[in-house]
Amino acid sequence: MGKLSDVEEKLVNSIKGLEDLLVEVAKDFISIPTVNPPGSNYVEMVNQIGVWCSRIGLEVEVIDVPDKVVAERSPESQNQPRKIILAYLGAEEKRPHIHFNGHYDVVPATGTWKTSEPFKPVVKDGKIYGRGASDMKGPLASILIALKALAEHKNELDGVASFSAVPDEEIGGEAGAKYLVENKPMLADICVIAEPSGLDSIWDSHKGQAWLEVTVKGKAAHASTPWLGVNAFERASRLVVCLSEEYVKQLPSKRFAKLVPYPDAIPVVTLGGVVKGGGKINIVPDNMSFTVDRRTVPGETFEEAKSEFINALYACADKLGVDRSDLEVKTILAGEPCVLQNGKLKTVFAEAVEDALALKPSFKICQGGLDMRHFISANIPTLTYGGGDPSKAHVADEYAKVSDLLDAAKVYALFAYRMLGKRS
Ligand SMILES: [Zn+2]
Repeated sequence: MGKLSDVEEKLVNSIKGLEDLLVEVAKDFISIPTVNPPGSNYVEMVNQIGVWCSRIGLEVEVIDVPDKVVAERSPESQNQPRKIILAYLGAEEKRPHIHFNGHYDVVPATGTWKTSEPFKPVVKDGKIYGRGASDMKGPLASILIALKALAEHKNELDGVASFSAVPDEEIGGEAGAKYLVENKPMLADICVIAEPSGLDSIWDSHKGQAWLEVTVKGKAAHASTPWLGVNAFERASRLVVCLSEEYVKQLPSKRFAKLVPYPDAIPVVTLGGVVKGGGKINIVPDNMSFTVDRRTVPGETFEEAKSEFINALYACADKLGVDRSDLEVKTILAGEPCVLQNGKLKTVFAEAVEDALALKPSFKICQGGLDMRHFISANIPTLTYGGGDPSKAHVADEYAKVSDLLDAAKVYALFAYRMLGKRS
């Protein structure tokens, strides 16, 4: 352990005694299948988070995202309520105000699960298994444990530590974290998101998602007389082959990262995550669509990435004799990349990792998109750090090491204490 004062050492050591509670909370959260899409069991989840927050001694507030906002921002999730839960240790309006955030939705449990059923968590060899163990119900439990340990030192704190659990991070956070910061513009001075970065990495930036859908039109005809039609499937296939040579393969050689000089800040693209089209075996298909998932890096914007793609698509279309007016490009998600500038948050947080865990963390870019962008857009300096291995997120047999979740809680508690501790 690094340089800890006596009281800091007591605080950090008290986390070790909360292992059973951490496991109980994490298992409880994992067992509620908050699968997104479409966003199931959100009400039950928020109630259950509220129960634990109250037990720990936090003041709880629930924000209902209006149906109108859900309908606009998440049209495919209509009739599924969205709720945000906030909990406070100290009065909300006090300053400084430091905030911990996580999302409670999980991706569907695909693949073959061998160690546990996805929503029946088990602990085996020091690891919690289940959908969300790593991303990020285990990390939500880390935050609660840290706040519980901190609550024992409440009288030594100025300011307030708060926590929010939001829905919809897995689909861009528009009706989750984005709505939260719009609803509470003065939410906090700084924020830490507990996504699983791994204990030795602090994510101070993340890539953006430019999600598009391309529709290629053709002309329907009876399959017995295909010469009377234009086959949209064949057109789309030729376009995809061209794009894959002239666009997909060229992208990784570009490095933007003007603001984040990390070697892994590389733009990439995946074509055809979802493919739709045709209708019947004996009809020449008159439409075919495929998705484009382009990951942008700091230094470029969604609009730039979108026009770059459209230019590449048109170049292929011209080459193959496909009329540009037979192509349509629709935006599915315009998630910008984001960067936390250097400042007190980065310095104090990195020191807390070093002192609580005796390991020197490095700052990295997260390859995926995060809710960080919504907090940073609202001028709340935000970084991401959590126990768990990011490679275990979204996969079958997802797990998090109990010791990692406890270690992350030590860092959160120490960091919060240092930011809020009374200066005498
Ligand atoms: Zn996540």
